[in-house]
Amino acid sequence: MADEFEFRSKREAIVETGLAMVEGDLTTGTGGNVSARTGDSVVISPSAVPYDEIDPADVPVVTLDGERVAGDLPPSSETPMHTNVYAGREDIGGIVHTHSPYASTFASLDEPIPASSYLIAYAGHEVPVAGYAPPGSEELAEYALDALDEETNACLLRNHGVLAVGETVEAAHETALIVEHCARIHYQASAIGDPVILSDQEVDELIAGFEEYRNQ
Ligand code: 13P
Ligand code: ZN
Repeated sequence: MADEFEFRSKREAIVETGLAMVEGDLTTGTGGNVSARTGDSVVISPSAVPYDEIDPADVPVVTLDGERVAGDLPPSSETPMHTNVYAGREDIGGIVHTHSPYASTFASLDEPIPASSYLIAYAGHEVPVAGYAPPGSEELAEYALDALDEETNACLLRNHGVLAVGETVEAAHETALIVEHCARIHYQASAIGDPVILSDQEVDELIAGFEEYRNQ
């Protein structure tokens, strides 16, 4: 298991990211959840606690089987979704689940967000929709992982919201912001015209360019 220092910094990152989600209008109240992997443990936001009331010391830590091993508060009801994605994608170190309004609009239409903005390349070729299952269910955990192939860092959860992943929780949060931006642009462009969709090849080039941009 990771050491106390590692847990403390991850716990602080969970609280900071939760507050940033509310600040950035990606969710309201106690909606959404955030986690970070450290070793074979997952530090995850507590269930049903407003983000501005969470003391980092109480943030729960669970195993990949979802068993709580530290922290006084009960872990998020979406723990199965987080642990399933970590188990299936070794490259992922952080996960953010939001209810951001424009992206949730497409989730309710069962429509992927296509490549109408170049920024989609942060998330993949498009943001696909995972099939509907009730919040907190094992089925939702499976559908979410199914939607996230290795080149896809975000999916919509039908009739619900967004799941964004990244190497760190900060990267996952950035992707969640970009997904909401892309959803808004696509909504606005569709409202007044017919958005031009970038080709697969154009998005491939953007993905390679972002990789370079990040590593410079
Ligand atoms: P938790 O407060 O249990 O994390 O649930 C919020 C949510 O968004 C459920 O999908
Ligand atoms: Zn939710």
